[in-house]
Amino acid sequence: LSDRLTSTFKNLRTKGRLSEADIDATVREIRRALLDADVAVSVVREFTGKVRERALSVEVSGALNPAQQVVKIVNDELVAILGGANRPLVFAKTPPTVILLAGLQGAGKTTLAGKLALHLRNQGHTPLLVAADLQRPNAVTQLKIVGERAGVPVFAPHPGTQGHADESQAVAGDPVAVAREGLATAVSRQHDILIVDTAGRLGVDAELMQQAGDIRDALDPDEILFVIDAMIGQDAVATAQAFADGVGFTGVVLTKLDGDARGGAALSVASVTGRPILFASTGEKLTDFEVFHPDRMASRILDMGDVLTLIEQAEKAFDADQAEELAAKLASGTGFTLEDFLVQMQQLKQMGSMKKMLGMLPGMGQMREAIDNFDEREVDRVEAIVRSMTPGERRSPKIINGSRRARIAKGSGTTATDVNQLLERFEGARKMMAQMAKGGGMGLPGMGNL
Ligand code: GDP
Ligand code: MG
Repeated sequence: LSDRLTSTFKNLRTKGRLSEADIDATVREIRRALLDADVAVSVVREFTGKVRERALSVEVSGALNPAQQVVKIVNDELVAILGGANRPLVFAKTPPTVILLAGLQGAGKTTLAGKLALHLRNQGHTPLLVAADLQRPNAVTQLKIVGERAGVPVFAPHPGTQGHADESQAVAGDPVAVAREGLATAVSRQHDILIVDTAGRLGVDAELMQQAGDIRDALDPDEILFVIDAMIGQDAVATAQAFADGVGFTGVVLTKLDGDARGGAALSVASVTGRPILFASTGEKLTDFEVFHPDRMASRILDMGDVLTLIEQAEKAFDADQAEELAAKLASGTGFTLEDFLVQMQQLKQMGSMKKMLGMLPGMGQMREAIDNFDEREVDRVEAIVRSMTPGERRSPKIINGSRRARIAKGSGTTATDVNQLLERFEGARKMMAQMAKGGGMGLPGMGNL
């Protein structure tokens, strides 16, 4: 995607405003990007429609070029659909908080049960895991192993001891009974959280839904988390809808995000069910687990590295009003002054924190170089020199002769060579600004456009 979008944006870059044709071309690329990321077709259609509408009515901001503005709209919409900010777990007023896991077989429920238990334990909670998957012979053993690794106790039925009333054992064969006893055990042993692992099927079926529904009715959970494999692709919508109708869920956990999947399923599920994604599972180890961040997911779906973070930084650092003022000045022929130059260098200094981020970006070599070569102390030197000039000298540096130069150098604690160098650099920047004004694009000096 990056390459394709970059070239579309290159076409947009030199234009001051977005035309309908520009927007349509960009929206086409966004559509393709989303389909590549396996976002459901119906969701893509709705999404691009919304983006198009917003792009048509958007105010042109001084800090961003039109292409960046479209990216920003796309990103804002993505983040909004993905829930805006992370939604934390809801805890019961009276413990234990009951968390029920549901999803297809192989989605990663049992693995997630362990990850979530460890995560909560690390936060000072005392979870109890319940093995209510009695479908597969080794499902209980798997949860026991996971629980041991997480250092969290597991409540499980004991094979072949039907009706045994030991606290750590339950009626074999009946997942609803196991779940119920698990809850009773959590209450009596004062666990503040109960995590219930359930059985899944390879596909959606009535029996599976019935069982999950029965466990839900027996426990009245505070959270029902629908666990879904990010690699599921176009099936995401149908599966999520089936679970939403069959069991209902309060939140989503996306698993296997360590794989190739760009996470289109996240957008599909969030968009179709309106349920927030709480966590992401990113590997087989218990620690491969993250709180879900809509903004990071949006970048991943768009496959644009941290370009968006960069855009936000740029927008903050480069005040839109100043940009407009400057553009007006350039257009009216008043010209770019040394004071403007100083302001811009100060803004570039504010963006020093971008150095780190640039390392993460694909295809940003030129810009990275510009910022790498940027010495922050240089800004202070420039400031000292400009402050030592008279207003007349700042307006028309041409009048700076040998004696003026010596006076400025002395006043700013620099040398005549330093003053000369600054004047040369200013001249270069001025030419560049004039060129940009002609091309219609407003960028940051030395940075080019994204
Ligand atoms: P369940 O049937 O829903 O309980 O799924 P499991 O927890 O048994 O997971 C099925 C398989 O997927 C196992 O081999 C897990 O190790 C693997 N798995 C689970 N979560 C992840 C993940 O986030 N990334 C990767 N790579 N594998 C995972
Ligand atoms: Mg399982």
